[in-house]
Amino acid sequence: MDKITKERIALLHPSVRDEVTCIINECNKALTGRAQIRISQGLRTFSEQDELYAQGRTKPGKKVTNAKGGQSVHNYGFAVDGVLILDGKTASWDFKKDFDNDGVADWDECVKIFAKYGWSWGGNWTSFKDFPHFEKIGFNNWRVLQAKKRDSQNYILL
Ligand SMILES: [Zn+2]
Repeated sequence: MDKITKERIALLHPSVRDEVTCIINECNKALTGRAQIRISQGLRTFSEQDELYAQGRTKPGKKVTNAKGGQSVHNYGFAVDGVLILDGKTASWDFKKDFDNDGVADWDECVKIFAKYGWSWGGNWTSFKDFPHFEKIGFNNWRVLQAKKRDSQNYILL
C-alpha cells in the first residue's frame, strides 16, 4: 500500500486500523492490473468538517456537504473514501472499469472485500450515492457516535 494510505489509516479510530490495513492489502492483492486502491480520505476532524460545511455558505465555493462538525462518520474515524491509482500515479474514479480484466470491475472487487469485513458501501445508498465511501457497520450512525464519551485525542471510547 502507498504511504498516503498508511498515513490515513494511522488516523482512523484505533479499533479499525488493523482491519483496514488487512482490507487494503487484500484489495491490492485482488487487483492484478494497473490499479491499486488508495484511501483518499479517512478521519476528518470536527474543525475540518466545519470548514467544509462553511464552503458555499459563509465562505466562497459550492456546497460540498450538509454535515457540520460531528455529523459525519468521518469525524470519528469509522469511514474511508477510496480512489484507484493507476500505474502508481494517476487517480481514477472510474468505478465501472475492469482494469485487471478478470471480468469484475476493480471497484466491485474492493466493495466485496470491504463487505466481508463488515463495511458498507456508499454506492448502495438510495438517495445520494457516494461511490468512493465505505463505513464500518455498527459505527455508522453519527448521532450515536456523537453521544459517546471521547478520549483525549477525541476518539470515541468503545
Ligand atoms: Zn466518505
